[in-house]
Formats: sequence, structure tokens, C-alpha cells
Amino acid sequence: MDLKKASNLLLFGSKNCKELEYPNCFVGSLSKLVKSDISLLKSMAQASKSASLSANQIGSEHNMFVIRQKIKDNQWFYEDKGYYSVFINPRICKVSQKIEENWEYCASFPWLRAKVPRFLKIKVEYDDEGLNTREKVLEGFLARLFQHELDHLRGLTLINWRLNHLGLDFLDKEENEDNKEILQVLLTF
Ligand SMILES: [Zn+2]
Repeated sequence: MDLKKASNLLLFGSKNCKELEYPNCFVGSLSKLVKSDISLLKSMAQASKSASLSANQIGSEHNMFVIRQKIKDNQWFYEDKGYYSVFINPRICKVSQKIEENWEYCASFPWLRAKVPRFLKIKVEYDDEGLNTREKVLEGFLARLFQHELDHLRGLTLINWRLNHLGLDFLDKEENEDNKEILQVLLTF
């Protein structure tokens, strides 16, 4: 991840990282601020090479996230440039019986991965970039990304998953030693 380019990205352990836990606000109109947050969200997703990114990860209070248009199964980060679709006021209307557990990664927690159970198939509704309501059925990794980002919008992160479900791994990265200590204190609390 290019952290210099992704300077607006909220990382765990950084000054404003508490904002990762704030639930977001409904987007009722395409104000100037909403539009500028959409473009910042897209460029931060690009800079952090993420498959998806939520508004609160860039300190925005708007209820929206972006997902890369071309994704590969279980690939959370990408080296090449991609385009992103925005999902405003996203919600899940229906879920499949089938649940799958798999590892998840997050740009705000570059030194962690968590094993998270997700619905394999979901029917969703959201507003697109023109605030038109859309309905879609998502499956597999795309459904997982949608559920991961929806958790962010509710203020839930990978740490919450660890506390509830166990299954969390530190990724072996030297620069993460400080965060490791902070998190270890949190997890034993
Ligand atoms: Zn995330």
C-alpha cells in the first residue's frame, strides 16, 4: 500500500482512528460535500490498492462505500489501476442460508487478517452515483466485500470480528510492531 498517497486513509493506531467506529449518516441528496467525498473515496481506494473502501475509512460521515469494478476471487489488494462503483445507503434485503468462512483483510488494519463468516449470496439495495435506487443479487467474494464494507458503515471492524468469533492473525510486517502491542492490550482486555 502506498501510504503517502493514501494520506486520508484512517489507519488503526492513527490520531483519528476512533472515527472508524462511528456509524454513518443517510445520504439524502447529492450535495457538494457528498460529491467531493465520493471522488476522495475513489482516489483513496485506488491509492490504498483496495478492492473496496468505506466512507468512514477516510473520515467521511456519509453512508456509502466503493467497490472495484473488476475483482478477483479473494483478492483484497490490487497492483493495477481499477475503476470503482459507489454504493450509497446500502442495505441487505435478503440472505442465503449458506454461510462461508474466509480470511478478510482491510486497508485500515494492514497488519491483520480475520476469519469472518459471511452469507454466500445476498440481495441488496443501494443508491447509485445519481441517487437512483438499484437492486442486485451478489454472490461469493463480491457479496463478502459488500458485507465487510457494510460492517464498516456500522462502525464494526476486523477487531470486532475477533472479539466475537475468534480467528485473527497478525500479518508478519516489521513496521507494525507498535500497533501489535496496542492491539494485544485491546484483545486481552
Ligand atoms: Zn475494511
